[in-house]
Order: sequence, then structure tokens, then C-alpha cells
Amino acid sequence: MENKIWLSSPHMGSNELEYVKKAFETNWIAPLGPFVDKFESDLAKITGVNNVAALSSGTSALHLALILLGVAENDIVLCQSMTFSASANPIKYQKATPVFIDSEYETWNICPKSLKEAILKYIGLGKKPKAIIVVDLYGMPAKFNEIIELSNEYQIPIIEDAAEALGSTYFGKACGSFGAFSILSFNGNKIITTSSGGALLSNNEDSIKEARNLATQARDHAPHYQHSKVGYNYRLSNVLAGIGIGQLEVLGERVKMRRRNFEFYKNAFSNIPGISFLDEPEGFYSNRWLTCILVDSKNTNGIRSEDLRLALDKENIESRPLWKPMHLQPVFSDTDFVGGDVCEQLFNNGLCLPSGSNLNEVDLKRVVRVIEQKFKYVY
Ligand SMILES: *Cc1c(COP(=O)(O)O)cnc(C)c1O
Repeated sequence: MENKIWLSSPHMGSNELEYVKKAFETNWIAPLGPFVDKFESDLAKITGVNNVAALSSGTSALHLALILLGVAENDIVLCQSMTFSASANPIKYQKATPVFIDSEYETWNICPKSLKEAILKYIGLGKKPKAIIVVDLYGMPAKFNEIIELSNEYQIPIIEDAAEALGSTYFGKACGSFGAFSILSFNGNKIITTSSGGALLSNNEDSIKEARNLATQARDHAPHYQHSKVGYNYRLSNVLAGIGIGQLEVLGERVKMRRRNFEFYKNAFSNIPGISFLDEPEGFYSNRWLTCILVDSKNTNGIRSEDLRLALDKENIESRPLWKPMHLQPVFSDTDFVGGDVCEQLFNNGLCLPSGSNLNEVDLKRVVRVIEQKFKYVY
């Protein structure tokens, strides 16, 4: 059996280990320290957002964003349905009520029309939504002009889940800078990783100070341990922040290689009818965290995305269906959904191809060959 090709595996640069060693040498083995501070200021520079709190995960960042926006029991939070469950779970941590919104076909992200419909519906019910969670799926920015306009018109803050989109831009502005709060993730499969980690970003300095406080058990100013609020243990380790600093040094190269993957697959499959890609609309720049294809089985003689996944799996190549929409998940089965069947169709016909920045041309050709082979008998 040939070596395993992973969907998206960690890819260390040359300096990460040095920073980790330095953390050991200086004994900064704690959820605070000079690397945490530097990682935060590096992230601020890259995204153009003034204040960043480095945290233990993207999920904890989303949780704190909801808390800081005052989301509490029975509040309505609108959330893109097509996403990873981590976007929605923190709504439940707050005992609030998620309402899921369909996607549109140009970015696969939250559909501004359905979003508006949901806002009006819940305002009509006397339950104005408390927040809108927008995701930059697979690195593709959402349609922020339209979404921000709605956010302003109805005065509902945006939480931007940019967990997959570090290095992406929208009309020249970095993903991670569009929400009242935005979040990033540095989990093992993301475009850069600290093994696990995340960040909360905002231009509101007081909010990020409060986030750091909540993330370290919400201690009051006192020599003893005194608390007037419920706190969390959500800070990032200084050791892991060292990895993050090294990873940020190579972010540009990582984006370049992920975008190369996309171009490689797109060229390779250009003459297979029924396979399509998510192109960048004018002004959108995706880090191409994952390259995804849609398989239209009406034009492939019945071959479906799942057939391709199984064929790849047989050759020791990992691929994966697109995110299963939240409104179709058993855990959210009692939840309202606004929209049509766009994200359901995407889920039914989509496939994420191996997309790591550490794949070489031999790996990519192996993936392409398996898929070509599958179509060989069709055309
Ligand atoms: C990975 C991811 C998260 C969660 O980040 P963690 O760091 O794993 O907690 C949230 N939202 C999306 C869209 C993600 O892909």
C-alpha cells in the first residue's frame, strides 16, 4: 500500500521547534508569557484588528464572543447552517436558541436573502436575534458587504467564524476582521496550527481585556483569589504560542501551496464534465484551506461524490464530504431553519480533496489519477 495522503495535515516550518525550546529554557511553561503576547500582536498585525486574545481553541473564542455580546438563555442567535458543529455548539453552552440559515452558491456561505428573512421573522415574533454567526467556509470569505449592511440596518452584531480563513481577504481586507468579534482556530488540520489553539479578535479593547479575564477564571483585583463572575480556563499555553509564532512566519507560503493545490486539481479535471469548483467572485481571495469539488451525477453517468471518496479511500487517500449542515444534525433536530436546499445540495454532492500545504506533485498526481480512473470507463 502506498503512503497515506491526508486531507490536511500539520506542516511545521523551520523555527517552531526553536521557539518551543526557548519556552523551555526560560521556563515559560504557562498559559501566559512572552510568546502569548507576541503571538497576539503578530495576529493583530496580519489581520489589521487592534486587539487579539490567544485562546485554547476556536470553540472557546466563539463561546467568549457570545458571552461578551450578552447572549443568554432563550436568546436567538442566527448561524450559518453549512459549517462545522463548533460554530453552533457555543450557542447551546449559553442555553440560547440557534436558528440556522441557508447558504448561497457563490461562496457557500450564509445567504444574505435568507438572513434578512430570518431577521424579519424573529423581529416579527418579538424576539430580535442577539448575534449573527457568519463562517468563511473552506477559506472563502462570506458576502460581507451585504451581511454588514443587514447587521447595521437591524443593529445585530456579527461574529465572524474565520477558523478556516486565516490568510483570506475580501476586497483587500483580512478575514478575521469583519465581525464585532471574529475568531480563528489553530487546530491540527487548519492552515496553520499550534496543535490546538484559537484566538478572539475585536477592535474593542475593553472587550478583549474582559475576554482575557474570563479566559483565566475571572479573577478580581485582590491579593487572594476573589471572583465576582463565572470564569473559564481558555488561555493559550506559552509553549503552543511559540509554535504559532513560527507558523505565522510561513503563513504566506502555506496559502501559496494551498492555492497551488486548487489550481492543480482544477486544471486536471477541466475536461471532466460534471465536476465543478468554487471560483472566487471579484474581490474575494480565498486561502483555499480545502479544495472542494461538486459532482453533478446527472453529467457523470451516475458517478457520485461518495463513489470518488470510496475510490480514494481504497488507495489510502483521505477525502471527505462537505460539512453536513447543522439543521440536518440530530443534535439540532428541533431547531428552526430559514432558506431553501442550497446547503443540503452542497452536502449531497460535494467532496473535499487532500489539500495540505505539504503535499507534493507526486501526491497530487496520485489523487488525480484515482479520480481520472473512475471516469475512464464513462467517457
Ligand atoms: C475548526 C473550526 C472551529 C473550531 O475550532 P477549534 O479550534 O477546533 O475549537 C470552528 N469553526 C469552524 C468553521 C472550524 O472549521
